[in-house]
Amino acid sequence: MMLNYDAPLYRPPSEARSLIFQVTLGCSFNECSFCDMYRSKEYAERPWDDVKAEIDMMANYLPNTKRVFLADGDALNLDSDYMIKVVKYIKEKFVNLERISCYAMPMNILKKSSEELKKMNEAGLDMLYLGIESGSDIVLKKVTKGAIAQTIIKSVNKAKEAGYTMSCMVILGLGGKKYSKEHIKGTAEVISACSPNYVGALTLYLENGIKQEFLEKYNGEFIRINDDESLDELHDLLSLINTKDEIVFRANHGSNAYTIKGTFPQDKQEMIEKVEWMKQHPEIVRPQGLRGF
Ligand code: SF4
Repeated sequence: MMLNYDAPLYRPPSEARSLIFQVTLGCSFNECSFCDMYRSKEYAERPWDDVKAEIDMMANYLPNTKRVFLADGDALNLDSDYMIKVVKYIKEKFVNLERISCYAMPMNILKKSSEELKKMNEAGLDMLYLGIESGSDIVLKKVTKGAIAQTIIKSVNKAKEAGYTMSCMVILGLGGKKYSKEHIKGTAEVISACSPNYVGALTLYLENGIKQEFLEKYNGEFIRINDDESLDELHDLLSLINTKDEIVFRANHGSNAYTIKGTFPQDKQEMIEKVEWMKQHPEIVRPQGLRGF
């Protein structure tokens, strides 16, 4: 039994087996130049009757559901009372539920009071996925992220204090060649200043449709880094992150040629050494030849 989703539907890789309810459609911001996930949609919040009907239906078909993901791009933009109503109802209907999560932007978190955030967390919203992308203000501006390093740090810390598990994404190569150093330095600083529970490092990949817009926003200054330089960025990022708190770190190469994973602070050195080893063995990293832009 499948729900009638409003396509396209996205969710983080770690929610691949979760039951997904669309409580919002699209993204309330929809302007990041590297992201065309929701360009075809107008942001909207779905009415309670529709959401409730879907929860009721799926509670019959999949009563043992353990994980629920609330889509689309920034479900946390929902009014807090409405979110509490949705989350409470899901908890009531799925008695074996272990986790409810959704995507969030720094602004969604900062717009809400700590009290509201706590209430939603107590109602059952456990985990937020937030795109840091870069910790460099220059790069954040170039990609029209709509956030600066300080607001990202503030939002992650605020959500953690309210009880949320934070899973954050950063994008290697987002600064291109020119801003590579700033990108990595700033990103390591942001991660160190807010220690998200999980950090995933992705490699920039631009589909044809979005490539032109991305380059234009960069004013012609963007030159893609190659696989070797991407490994250098990963190396420097790992080296520059300083935290006493645990961060579960994971980096997947764009071509899935490798995965680096470990937990800060204890696995830091081991992860760095693995990247150094990979740099000396390019045949492992680049088995399929050069990838497209
Ligand atoms: S906030 Fe997220 S979903 Fe929205 S445009 Fe930016 S990256 Fe895409």
